[in-house]
Amino acid sequence: MLIIRTPSEMNEWSVGQCAAGNTIGFVPTMGALHQGHVELMQKSARENNFTTASIFVNPLQFNNQNDLATYPRQFDQDAKIAKDAGVDVLYAPTVNAMYPEGFTTNISVGEIANSMEGLHRPGHFDAVATVVVKLLNIVAPHVAYFGEKDFQQLAVIRHVVRDLDIPSTIVGVPTIRAIDGLALSSRNVRLTPEHLQQAPIIYLLLQQLVQSAHSVNNETLKLTSHFTEMIQSSSDARVEYVEIVNAKTLLPVSHADNTAVVCVAVWFGDVRLIDNISLVSNIA
Ligand code: AMP
Repeated sequence: MLIIRTPSEMNEWSVGQCAAGNTIGFVPTMGALHQGHVELMQKSARENNFTTASIFVNPLQFNNQNDLATYPRQFDQDAKIAKDAGVDVLYAPTVNAMYPEGFTTNISVGEIANSMEGLHRPGHFDAVATVVVKLLNIVAPHVAYFGEKDFQQLAVIRHVVRDLDIPSTIVGVPTIRAIDGLALSSRNVRLTPEHLQQAPIIYLLLQQLVQSAHSVNNETLKLTSHFTEMIQSSSDARVEYVEIVNAKTLLPVSHADNTAVVCVAVWFGDVRLIDNISLVSNIA
């Protein structure tokens, strides 16, 4: 596996492979790789001649400096995981290589980025869009893979790629979970043992919410209030938001029907976890 540190070398490699008629798959990450990332990489390796992945902890998308400082970093271990997952080229630029002195451009995404994560993390998606567009320009992949775990991020990226005519296909990959249902996340390693035990309740209650929407009452307000009450009374969780939105527009819906997805952000101590469940495939 090749490790590349500069945009020019990365782009040169990609242009060469494209000219030779090879297809390139790309998996952007912030490192601290787990099975969720591996799934994306393996899918790319199956579907393309070459697979590239990036590891870049993008400082611009962190609103919380403590989150940035404590974000897990483990490059050597990540390089091994990526290689074993079938990655051919690992692009790991420095902050200075991505944002050299004088860098000022910022993509403004618009409405789809304003709710949920965007509302609670102002500027987050503009920064995500900016770094992803830069990475897509540098790597020039035929296909780029993103996890459905970051549901709004995937929607934002699809939107930006369409709006800016970026010639890469965006593919969403279902969320990989631990056996107890907890969505895998690089931030899980920061949970205390007690919170790690409690956190699977997020997905348990999301599944129950879907059942209720199906069988009892699909009024959004009732479903979300019940979710918040249940999780806060039976664990140390603090719900930042729980929203039921249209899966395409991400606008809130009053009734949870088969166009909806439920998105949540929950704090355990100083660790913020997000998850979602789609009603699209869960309600007939
Ligand atoms: P991150 O390193 O957290 O920025 O994630 C890099 C990519 O991996 C993003 O497209 C995420 O949505 C995806 N990802 C993270 N966790 C999971 C998971 N549990 N299942 C599937 N994809 C994931």
